[in-house]
Amino acid sequence: MSLLVLNKRDVERLLSMPKCIELMEAALASLARGEVQLPLRPVIRIPDSKNAFAVMPAYSASLKAIGAKLISVFPDNHGTALDSHQGAVALFDGSNGSVIALMDAASITAIRTAAVSGVATKLLAKKDASTVAILGTGVQGRTHVDAMMAARPFKHMRIWSRTHAHAADLASYALKNYKGRLETSVAHADAQEVVQSADVICTVTASREPVLRGDWLKAGAHINAVGASIPTARELDTLAVVRSRIFVDRRESAMAEAGDILIPIKEGALKATDIVAEVGELLTGKAKGRRDDKEITLFKSLGIAVEDLASAQWLYETARTEGVGQTVDF
Ligand code: NDP
Repeated sequence: MSLLVLNKRDVERLLSMPKCIELMEAALASLARGEVQLPLRPVIRIPDSKNAFAVMPAYSASLKAIGAKLISVFPDNHGTALDSHQGAVALFDGSNGSVIALMDAASITAIRTAAVSGVATKLLAKKDASTVAILGTGVQGRTHVDAMMAARPFKHMRIWSRTHAHAADLASYALKNYKGRLETSVAHADAQEVVQSADVICTVTASREPVLRGDWLKAGAHINAVGASIPTARELDTLAVVRSRIFVDRRESAMAEAGDILIPIKEGALKATDIVAEVGELLTGKAKGRRDDKEITLFKSLGIAVEDLASAQWLYETARTEGVGQTVDF
């Protein structure tokens, strides 16, 4: 049996941000049409540490594909040669059950997560949004710069991070890569300043405590809240969430994993029914997104396996056509 292996370089070479946004739109719409089987991910928490290991399986009838992402999350790898997220996506042929590919999961996760924020931003940010803020400057910070620039013609980038030098580096990256499109790209030492000036805010930190406060938000802002994915961690305070019209990648995941939503519910400040829709339901027309230029919208992202599966299926087909990757006799 022949198995295609795609490493990080192969994935990054093939999967551009605009292409991935297109793939994520199709995948989320397919989920909303009921064409995807997506059990909640089991997560093993490694004792006495912040580390975890998760298995994320999915089946897509429209893609005729089965797959699973195996991913470790070791937050303290940040700042070392290793990514905090590492793993593999295993892809199976939906018609005969054969395993057909193994791909680097760190790069797929980095790109597809930001691409989904790009989808939400295209759908929910107000039409004249011109300033985007990024809070957090790790792997996701960088891919979110690319996703935001692929989603909308932003003119101004504002960046904050716990370590100011990292914010300065990302601001330079944005200016260099989007020369001629961005008028300004500035690192700030104060998160409040960054949020107050922004039409769209992406929170992509590994913080377990709020980094964004609701009283900083301006009318009409859109938030992509990406960084917190366990019930006990959150990046937004309760006010930020209750001021927002809330959208999620998947309701079931949000109600099981999203501290940003579960903590305000526990406090009695929010109800499960305050989640307006899944992003896929906006794509299929089942639900309505932003209603006016004043309301604040929030996309709470957790990351779901169909995003990895759709990326992997497209990467497999493209790599086979273009002769990318290594084939192993398995
Ligand atoms: P990295 O390890 O590459 O970067 C971590 C970032 O978080 C850095 O910018 C760091 O700031 C910041 N940070 C860490 N601790 C704190 C803190 N206590 N307060 C404020 N900032 C902090 O991680 P990634 O970019 O890969 O991932 C970022 C987050 O997104 C993680 O929590 C991850 O689990 C989550 N994630 C969510 C996904 C989804 O689908 N929703 C998918 C993938 C990741 P600095 O460097 O300035 O010190």
